[in-house]
Amino acid sequence: MSMIVARSLSDLRDVVNLWRSEGLGTAVVPTMGALHEGHLTLVAAAKAKADRVMATIFVNPKQFAAHEDLSRYPRDEEGDLAKLEQAGCDLAYLPNADEIYPEGFVTTVSVAGPAKAGLEDKFRPHFFDGVATVVAKLFIHTAADYAFFGEKDYQQLLVVTRMARDLDLGIEVIGIPTIREEDGLAKSSRNRYLSKHERHQATAIIRTLEQAAEKIRIGGDPQVATKAAARSLMTLGFEVDYVTARNAETLAVPVSSDEPLRLLAAARLGKTRLIDNIAV
Ligand code: AMP
Repeated sequence: MSMIVARSLSDLRDVVNLWRSEGLGTAVVPTMGALHEGHLTLVAAAKAKADRVMATIFVNPKQFAAHEDLSRYPRDEEGDLAKLEQAGCDLAYLPNADEIYPEGFVTTVSVAGPAKAGLEDKFRPHFFDGVATVVAKLFIHTAADYAFFGEKDYQQLLVVTRMARDLDLGIEVIGIPTIREEDGLAKSSRNRYLSKHERHQATAIIRTLEQAAEKIRIGGDPQVATKAAARSLMTLGFEVDYVTARNAETLAVPVSSDEPLRLLAAARLGKTRLIDNIAV
């Protein structure tokens, strides 16, 4: 069966209502397109959990700041649709901006808790309200039972999980481990911006995070280990936004030694900003 492409909410609803009437369980994978194996792994995980899988492609203007890369964000609709079909996705939802933000739109979902942890939010102040607003709309549009998100964007995963619970959106958010290149670099639509030399340097992020995690596992102080990791990235030519150890469930600064920890990093190489994170 070939994949359905819906570009309007009413087209999407026709299909979703039909699936509902047949008693089928559904899952959604929200994306901004420029799809790679990370996204397709989310689709595969969604297929394993639900009878029907929808992927959404929407480059959300509300989560880009004026100076960010909205206009140069990669777009490849034809390639994306072919990949989704190949991955066995049942429906691709590609709403246009008017469908999501009609004339006069003024409502924003305002998120706190993990969204105010002082990580991505510190460098991109409107980012998580923008993400939460569009994701809430996509959850309502698709009325899915499950939504799949990558641990690659760990703070986002926690923010969206919390929002779905707080607003009783009736959708279970499921996180999927980060898919990596052979040398460990987390797959990302932004990796294509790296020069050959930067692409080679970029593997240092996961290597330094792993070294820091190992130091902590054998009893090292998380603060000391992450500071050393930040220093070593700087030495290698990165501009470091943060390298930090946080409570894995809340992203709060840890206060005791028996909390589950997550190491999170964001650093820039030239014009490209890379993020990554791992469990301790
Ligand atoms: P994006 O299109 O970058 O907004 O990402 C859409 C979804 O794919 C988000 O839930 C991301 O966390 C997830 N994702 C992006 N890269 C990866 C990756 N390397 N591994 C797993 N999930 C990913």
